[in-house]
Amino acid sequence: MKLAIFDDYRLGVVSPDEARITDVSAALPWPRDSDPFGASWWVRLCRDFGELRSRIESTASSGPGRPLESVWLRAPVLNPSKIVACAANYAAHVAEMKGVRQRVGGPGEARFSQFDVFLKAPSSIIGPRESVVLPPGPSSAGVEIHHESELALVIGRGGSSIAEDRALDHVLGYTIGLDITVRGAGDRSRRKSYDTFTPLGPWVTTADEVGDPHTLDIRLSIGGAVRQSVNTQDLGVKIPGIIAYTSGVMRLEPGDVILTGAPQGVGPIRDADVMDTEISRLGRMLVSVRGMRNEG
Ligand code: MN
Repeated sequence: MKLAIFDDYRLGVVSPDEARITDVSAALPWPRDSDPFGASWWVRLCRDFGELRSRIESTASSGPGRPLESVWLRAPVLNPSKIVACAANYAAHVAEMKGVRQRVGGPGEARFSQFDVFLKAPSSIIGPRESVVLPPGPSSAGVEIHHESELALVIGRGGSSIAEDRALDHVLGYTIGLDITVRGAGDRSRRKSYDTFTPLGPWVTTADEVGDPHTLDIRLSIGGAVRQSVNTQDLGVKIPGIIAYTSGVMRLEPGDVILTGAPQGVGPIRDADVMDTEISRLGRMLVSVRGMRNEG
């Protein structure tokens, strides 16, 4: 099932052919607040999806829905308590970052060549119809701002110290994530948390529909040129390992987002670029970039 949030924070189910969307807000047993700051309904849905699934399915099958292009798709998550992101989780990306750091500076090798997790500000999330806005400070200083296209997952049932062999039971579903990053010196939590730096979308495909998450092609292109192209079989630490490691540190709450790490091929984004990202079985998302003009 493809779960979307659209228009005034309504819950929708996208048809298997991705052409239509059906409003299933009425299937929620609690009030659905159209104010995103009252949106604990989404977190409760993530927690209770197993029990609510059949109601949502029957509501989705009750009507023809509307053409998908007639609605405003928002980011397919609301108010996650945190965005966890993985560092150094594709060997070829770790290798390419040595060159990037020689060019733009930043933290040394020891700090960034081993798998770990860090946090991004949830306020950096945008949906597929919004734009990444390049911050004037880093842009005017000539600092590189990079795209990282990543498999993202959304936590369903929360938990602490989740065992690897139960970890996938805690995944509600998967979506496309972009981890936009200012390169260079300074703390990573600041460099990756500028407003608009975490596009997510176009919807959450539930885990049952995705099957094995380590068989997905990730592709990002700009202006027709493929920048990143990889299969998630190349993930260093697989998703159960990511969940076990993270939940051994911080409790994972329903609705939390985990970005599983950047594959190789990261590179600069500039004003007027359109990042075209596709992940098999999860859909395609086009996100535009706005900001300082490219001097070159
Ligand atoms: Mn990343």
